[in-house]
Amino acid sequence: DVAGQALYAGVSIGITFSRFGYTSPDEVLRDADTAMYQAKALGKGRYALFEPGLHAAVTQRVQLESDLRRALADSALTLAYQPQIELATGRAGGFEALVRWQHPQQGAIRPEAFIPMAEETGLITLLSDFVLHSACAQLVRWHRMNPAWAELTVSVNLSGHDIISRGVVGRVTAALTAAGLAPRHLVLELTEDAVMTRLDAATANLQALRALGVQLSVDDFGTGYSSLARLARLPIDSLKIDRSFVHDLAEGNLEAAVVQAVLTLGSALGKQVVAEGIETLGQADQLRRMGCSFGQGFHLGRPLSAAEATAWLVKH
Ligand code: C2E
Ligand code: MG
Ligand code: MG
Repeated sequence: DVAGQALYAGVSIGITFSRFGYTSPDEVLRDADTAMYQAKALGKGRYALFEPGLHAAVTQRVQLESDLRRALADSALTLAYQPQIELATGRAGGFEALVRWQHPQQGAIRPEAFIPMAEETGLITLLSDFVLHSACAQLVRWHRMNPAWAELTVSVNLSGHDIISRGVVGRVTAALTAAGLAPRHLVLELTEDAVMTRLDAATANLQALRALGVQLSVDDFGTGYSSLARLARLPIDSLKIDRSFVHDLAEGNLEAAVVQAVLTLGSALGKQVVAEGIETLGQADQLRRMGCSFGQGFHLGRPLSAAEATAWLVKH
């Protein structure tokens, strides 16, 4: 308990063995450190044992980290935009911005492979700023292209780091101002896990962001450990049902019951519910009948480049 704030410390442990024949303390620490990085890479809060093959893995990781640093400096990251559709009308409500990294040697690298590394190294601040600035700027371009598109929104994923960092409100404001975008057109997505594990530290920021006028959405809802009492008090606008529930949705099954419960919860709390990962017409129909307001998924629209998204809007 530090100055009234609950801080949580986690531990990752790396272990090595004298049987590797060390001749100096430095070597022992180096290998234990390597194993500790492995423990972190495997999800933290655990231990890992050193084995000689790990050196190569860690060297690769360090290389990837410096590549990401360069990609950020050279503006080599891009954004894909996935349509979000109002299920009752088929109208496009907006897009979710998803970061893309085309590595010069390794090709496309999935966000799940570099976002955790960006969080660990602190590069996430630069990455989130890049996404915020480009997504807001692109949305303003769409708003100006066609009056019919002037109410589109853009959703940006923030990381757990961002939502507890002191500067986040200023950074979001800077992106809005630079683009000339009204706050209500920006939706910030925070995963349920990121919010709930940092609730004490995040609440003031969430309230300040809400006061600024941006919308807040809880992503991957249903996979974290929400306390319903605390969820009800969170200053958020919408819940995004995790795609795992949508994937296994069928008439009358357990997933349908969970989705129905989330819809009921959302409507009781006055929060919109968005379903993600809609891959079939059947899923879209069922969610619409259940009263889910917005949907996103390959069936409704894949993540597109900005130019493709413009063409998609024209056709839509
Ligand atoms: P998310 O925020 O839940 O984003 C949705 C992910 O589901 C995207 O994967 C999207 O391409 C994928 N998806 C969309 N429709 C479907 C579908 O119908 N079926 C299936 N199976 N998948 C679908 P992507 O782009 O690989 O991103 C993965 C995750 O990485 C995102 O999950 C988000 O948590 C994170 N991420 C992506 N971009 C950013 C970013 O700019 N910043 C941060 N902090 N995280 C990001
Ligand atoms: Mg998201
Ligand atoms: Mg999600």
